[in-house]
Amino acid sequence: MTAKRRPLIAGNWKMNGLQSDGLALAYSVGEYLKAKEDPSFEMLVCPPFTILTATNVVLSDTDVKLGAQNCHTAEKGAHTGDISVAMLAEAGCSYVIVGHSERRTDCGETDEMVCAKAEAANAGGLTAVICIGETEAERDDGKTLDVVKTQIAGSVPGTATAENTVVAYEPVWAIGTGRTPTNDEVQEVHAFIRSELADKLGGDIADGIRLLYGGSMNPGNANDLLALDDVDGGLIGGASLKAADFGAVADCC
Ligand code: PEP
Repeated sequence: MTAKRRPLIAGNWKMNGLQSDGLALAYSVGEYLKAKEDPSFEMLVCPPFTILTATNVVLSDTDVKLGAQNCHTAEKGAHTGDISVAMLAEAGCSYVIVGHSERRTDCGETDEMVCAKAEAANAGGLTAVICIGETEAERDDGKTLDVVKTQIAGSVPGTATAENTVVAYEPVWAIGTGRTPTNDEVQEVHAFIRSELADKLGGDIADGIRLLYGGSMNPGNANDLLALDDVDGGLIGGASLKAADFGAVADCC
């Protein structure tokens, strides 16, 4: 982590959080951040759509940012069950996660679709958190860097900037499993991602884009992961569902 990029500690609540539990969690995260004087990091929570607006109210007197977990590319129209960027912005979101591996797997999202979602998010004023990462089979085959290279080429818009884009490296096999790559492996992939972004977007932009690590980050491993040069925060699933754990991860920044 370097001083020139402000770390982002992001919680992906996935399909968890009925109103009472979700709002209590958001309140606790807000109180945690309010108690920090001039925090060096930024905090983001990404609850389910159903409680975005209510969460925004709970967080209104805090600096915790609100994000969604997906968006559609169209502004409006006949897309049953989908949600537009304008709707997310109206609900109070400033971020949206796109291309999470669970959506790539469950919903068949391709790099092209992820890129279009990121572009739509940016056009609507939201910062896209673009997720990439290899499966276990791909890692075992020694294809991690090839996979990541292809995903960056296909999923990151050519218009990406340090303000409108965050990239989350999430090895699929590390998500929700309690397993993580070694610190050296994480740093190797993050440095590679930054060099690919530099080729695509230019060195200045690549230097400013925050690269999050995601996959079983928790209070026990966050200190080491967040100390790596090219890790600028975390995208945290399970450990973001307990305010104490989420705060303990942020404390490692
Ligand atoms: C995620 O889903 O983005 C994630 C990183 O989950 P977990 O922290 O539970 O592995």
